[in-house]
Amino acid sequence: MTDALLQIKGLNKAFGALVATDDVSLTLEPGEIHALIGPNGAGKSTLIKQIAGGLKPDAGEIRFNGQDITALSTVARARAGLGRTFQISSLAMEYTVLQNAVLGALGHRGTVWRFFAPVMKNADLRAAALTALERVGLADQAGKRTADLSHGQRRLLEVAVALTLHPKVFLMDEPMAGLGASGSKRLTGFLDGLRREAPILLVEHDMDAVFALADRISVLVYGKIIATGTAQEIRAHPEVREAYLGD
Ligand code: ADP
Ligand code: MG
Repeated sequence: MTDALLQIKGLNKAFGALVATDDVSLTLEPGEIHALIGPNGAGKSTLIKQIAGGLKPDAGEIRFNGQDITALSTVARARAGLGRTFQISSLAMEYTVLQNAVLGALGHRGTVWRFFAPVMKNADLRAAALTALERVGLADQAGKRTADLSHGQRRLLEVAVALTLHPKVFLMDEPMAGLGASGSKRLTGFLDGLRREAPILLVEHDMDAVFALADRISVLVYGKIIATGTAQEIRAHPEVREAYLGD
């Protein structure tokens, strides 16, 4: 496991008496999709936030590309190549699709940007934004208000915004949430190709997507990883079946 792009060691985070992540360790290898599943409240989002930098762990270490990034800010982690999509949308609904993507290319998300007009004229940022929109199939929606997109299109825009910074790894918290069958299928196809460019740590409730995509699956229950393995191993794991798959 020495070639892991992302290496999480012993992450602990408590909220008062509640231990949200309890000595969590995992790796993300080049080219892989590693899914993180578990019941509501298991600590999945708390783990993603610690890796992305929004939440400071009480203990533990995060190594990315061989470097200890535990003390880096969220912005520094994003610049270093840690891409992220959010469980709750971070898009500015009143802006156009292109404006959101340009803000993404700047490293900003969903915030009002004081120098908006000059930024929107920056050819490099526009090009990066348009390329990312093309990749997710939203280039023809560039001039539309984000609020007027379908839910599935907004999810794709989230991915495009993250892509503008050319991440080396992706952290995704429930990207399939609220997508219909066709939206999930489309995003699943896109993520399947994306793994070659950037491996993905994928928190997801949609088990069809998880079993279709994941090279490895880790199961988090009450803040602890109780099993890591292939889809086949996870399906057959007695403790997992009992705790999570509802047997
Ligand atoms: P999941 O994403 O697996 O559903 P979360 O990571 O959101 O779970 O939450 C794990 C546990 O931590 C839950 O019991 C949740 O209520 C609690 N929790 C999450 N964030 C906070 C917070 N900022 N303050 C207090 N408790 C929190
Ligand atoms: Mg969550």
